[in-house]
Amino acid sequence: MNYNIAVIEGDGIGPEIVQASIRVMEAVGVRFGHRFSFQKVLMGGCAYDATGNPLPKETVDTCLASDSVLLGAVGGPKWDTLPGHLRPEAALLGIRKALGLYANLRPAQLFSSLASACPLRADIAEKGIDLIIVRELTGGIYFGERGRRQTKNGEEAYDTEAYSVKEIERIARVAFDLARKRKKSVISIDKANVLESSRLWRETVHATAKEYPDVAVSDMLVDNAAMQLVRNPSQFDVVVTSNMFGDILSDEASMLTGSIGLLSSASLGDGTRGLYEPIHGSAPDIAGKGIANPIATILSGALMLRLSLGLEQEAFAIENAVNSVLAKGLRTADIARTGEDTLTCSQMTDAVIACLA
Ligand code: NAD
Repeated sequence: MNYNIAVIEGDGIGPEIVQASIRVMEAVGVRFGHRFSFQKVLMGGCAYDATGNPLPKETVDTCLASDSVLLGAVGGPKWDTLPGHLRPEAALLGIRKALGLYANLRPAQLFSSLASACPLRADIAEKGIDLIIVRELTGGIYFGERGRRQTKNGEEAYDTEAYSVKEIERIARVAFDLARKRKKSVISIDKANVLESSRLWRETVHATAKEYPDVAVSDMLVDNAAMQLVRNPSQFDVVVTSNMFGDILSDEASMLTGSIGLLSSASLGDGTRGLYEPIHGSAPDIAGKGIANPIATILSGALMLRLSLGLEQEAFAIENAVNSVLAKGLRTADIARTGEDTLTCSQMTDAVIACLA
């Protein structure tokens, strides 16, 4: 099969880590008989420098015409003083909106060979962590009505959490569909003991669950979930939650796995096309030094193969290769212990490709 992938390298370490992921996908293509055509487009600070716009129309058009999109990271101090709408980060919101991406998936997996990087007690870490948070991305309090007003007690500010049944149903379906590819269980996180929006969330998740009789669903209050993530993270598999709760819990979950350089993410909408990127930023402090960890972006490529292109075996082959490389003790600087030998970004990529064979 032929697949067209739009590629946004972005800024900072973006070009090096994206190149790593492309090389791994090409190697998978050779092994499994697929052809990936990668079309590079500009977005972020580099796009602003070249065109005066951080998200050129041509980039949006190419992404819309692609089977899926791979992104490195955007931003850096060079563009920090630009007005908000010209900043690289504005392009991120713009591309998510243009592609209709309302679900953000963040896997958090603890590789057994990196268990010592987990900040939890060894007896908790050894039970394993392999969960995925499905966060609603385009609704809730981050997009609700907000403002400031004068009251008799002086100035006050407000933000509003609002969710429609339609918004909850579509994110719940993403979680249930994903659960069918994993352990067939979903934990929905809310604050239904206090918030009306959470009560509608809970009702709607359970109503939607009737379409998925093979998937078990349970609820957890967000304060308890924050505690359970450090007390017993192995109980979680697919987690679905609102924009703000997902924002906070996914950072907590990512910390459990050790390094930001290992974690991938996917943003999905109604069709199969998605936007796949590492959770970290453009790391301007190490850009151009060749020492960035490419694993998060390589695993983002694997997620794309599984979730957008339906290539499960191929995705698994990449994840397996990353696991083997880490099990052999090969490390980039961010995950090495003091005194350990380290690999460059391209040496780590070579090692992953060698393990694919
Ligand atoms: P960052 O994630 O870029 O870096 C934080 C720290 O982690 C740095 O010390 C960096 O060197 C290290 N790091 C990150 N990725 C690494 C990797 N793959 N290998 C080894 N070390 C790695 O966060 P920041 O410094 O707060 O942000 C830098 C820029 O990135 C900012 O302009 C920010 O707006 C942008 N950003 C972009 C995205 C995105 O494109 N989705 C996300 C977050 C931040």
